[in-house]
Amino acid sequence: MAMTERAVLEAVDALRDELVTFTQALVRIPTVNPPGDRYGECAALVGATLERFSYDVREIRPRSDPDPAHPRVNVVGRLAGARPRPLLHFNGHFDVVPAGDAAAWTRDPFGGELADGRIWGRGTGDQKAGIAASIFAVEAIRRAGVRLGGTVEQSATVDEESGGFAGVAELCAQGICTAADTDHVVITEPLDLDRVCLGHRGVLWTEVTARGVAAHGSMPGLGRSAADAIARLVTRVDAELRPRLAERTTAMPVEPPEARRATINCNALHAGQRVDVEQTPMVADIATAIFDRRYLVEERLDDVRAELGALIDRERPRSPGIEWSTRERMLVEPVLTRRDAPAALAFADAVRDVLGRDAAFIASPGTYDQKHVVRIGGVNDCIAYGPGRLVTAHRPDEYVVVDELVDATKIMALATLRLLGTT
Ligand SMILES: [Zn+2]
Repeated sequence: MAMTERAVLEAVDALRDELVTFTQALVRIPTVNPPGDRYGECAALVGATLERFSYDVREIRPRSDPDPAHPRVNVVGRLAGARPRPLLHFNGHFDVVPAGDAAAWTRDPFGGELADGRIWGRGTGDQKAGIAASIFAVEAIRRAGVRLGGTVEQSATVDEESGGFAGVAELCAQGICTAADTDHVVITEPLDLDRVCLGHRGVLWTEVTARGVAAHGSMPGLGRSAADAIARLVTRVDAELRPRLAERTTAMPVEPPEARRATINCNALHAGQRVDVEQTPMVADIATAIFDRRYLVEERLDDVRAELGALIDRERPRSPGIEWSTRERMLVEPVLTRRDAPAALAFADAVRDVLGRDAAFIASPGTYDQKHVVRIGGVNDCIAYGPGRLVTAHRPDEYVVVDELVDATKIMALATLRLLGTT
């Protein structure tokens, strides 16, 4: 390891207390999503910190705010290096899922308590520690007196937990994070300290509605039951489609390995009257199922769509008088960065140099903001790397281990030096 690199790693150690304090301050702002609480306050804290560390900072709001009572505020900082390129962009989301059942926590979910070598609270791992780590990784380089050859941008964004449409998607759509001036993007999600995440599977949510004919429940022959029709369709999905999907495996290194297959899940199923009211005898004239299909980078989206359509077509002759319609509720295409892409390699090397063990390349079973960076922004060298353990995300007593936070910061600092060079 070069002298400059050693000096930067020492600077990370010297920043340990500041790094912890900043992480705690982020956790103490309950940026709960839904509904999207106190985003402006959190963006302001990140922005003020970046300004203190010599970044040019601006707030980015979505072109149309989905919920004016809870303004969506993203923040972006730019630290110019000797040259505008290469440009490395770190992104982290500061929205957090609700704390859930308070009785399940032994710590204050928004206390940011430091105990047992850990910082505790909702959003520590997922993923305020990631935001803190990338900011202090670059700050360690600055405090060591090292000037970067290329430029760093850092963004802290909203709504990742609900799809990221007012967050990273807006940054990309507004031209702030696109291939036109960005070379590498690192999303600081918690996927474990020694893992470099290359992408995620695709998602297609389809709502299927069956419309029948209502009749008195004592004379069902006079009607056409949408409940029976949707039940037959769900049975077909289970009997005809699911076994075929289970045979389709992916070369993507998805963790856990059970998720290395195409899957379908019936996310919601409803027919006829509401169940929480008194019932009157009726043949159900409308029924809806929502299917969550996870698809592989090896599958074609058109085929994925056609498969469900073909099942409905096969059901038609058995369900006379039923009208079928479908609506796509969400589509996320799969993304997979090459494992020899520059950011992937730089992070894997830095993991080995800091931790003394090889990094694993993985893919995520669920999606995160990489989809927007790749699909809207067109930046293909995009990975996820951050402190925090995947298994603690969204659970009671969420935490991040301080030593792991510091190590991740070192790994980010080394990778930044190597991707951008020095003057
Ligand atoms: Zn997250």
